[in-house]
Amino acid sequence: MSMNENNPLRQFFRRPAVHISLPSGGESYGPEDIEWPDEGKELPVYPMTAIDEITTKTPDALFNGSAITEIIKSCIPAIKNPWALLSTDLDTILISIKAAGGQETIDVESKCEKCGEEGTYGINLQVLLQSLKAGDFHIPMKLNGLEIYFAPLNYKEMNNSALAQFDIQAKYKDLTKIIDDKERMDQGQQALIDITELTMVVLSNAITKIVTPEGDVTENEHILDFLKHADTKTYESIRDFNSDLRENSTIKPLTIVCTAGADDPEKEECGHEYKQPFTLNASDFFA
Ligand SMILES: [Zn+2]
Repeated sequence: MSMNENNPLRQFFRRPAVHISLPSGGESYGPEDIEWPDEGKELPVYPMTAIDEITTKTPDALFNGSAITEIIKSCIPAIKNPWALLSTDLDTILISIKAAGGQETIDVESKCEKCGEEGTYGINLQVLLQSLKAGDFHIPMKLNGLEIYFAPLNYKEMNNSALAQFDIQAKYKDLTKIIDDKERMDQGQQALIDITELTMVVLSNAITKIVTPEGDVTENEHILDFLKHADTKTYESIRDFNSDLRENSTIKPLTIVCTAGADDPEKEECGHEYKQPFTLNASDFFA
């Protein structure tokens, strides 16, 4: 029996404040990733503890992703392996942890496309949660006699890709300061090659299977090799197909109604309504 279970104060510990179901439906997780409650497919979400709050302010841990995995394990104990979480579920999980803490909105900065005024808009977390759905990854892309199957990346793959992107940015951060024209062009070309190679690696991780007339290919190494040796048009259409799938499972663009001039009787109220894309970045979501 753990110490918790002996403690008479146990009943006064934090309690789940929110219950969520995952947009992906959860079929792809093993018991080592998520322990589903007996009652069904809804996961209880607890508010953050004081320790969790400190974790959200630890730069190194935020940078390498370990802060987010610790917070998820603390607030949603049913999730045993946060690294396995699919990108389609991660947004729901992060937003629900904020909602469990009693927070109702998050602030989004936006610049009106009509009057140019910048404003801060509170976006309702419940509305965000309800707008999230998983894209349909069951339908393959058909191309040149092949059927290409995709899956959302998991948090480990997303985090690795973010770290690799950061490395490339750091490597070429002084690019524009190179005085010699040829040297600067050469380095610029190399930066583009590095970025394209990284994109190919990430894309190969997102492809689960390629069905050919001779049989199925699932080896990541062979899929990456295929992307590297495909012609540009083929590569780009595979890349764009995957982007579209991912776009269907991210948060829909927010509808913003410009409030410029609303509280100033001297000015005319703008009131322009426009859409702004919203992407949730795990590493600074709790900052
Ligand atoms: Zn405006």
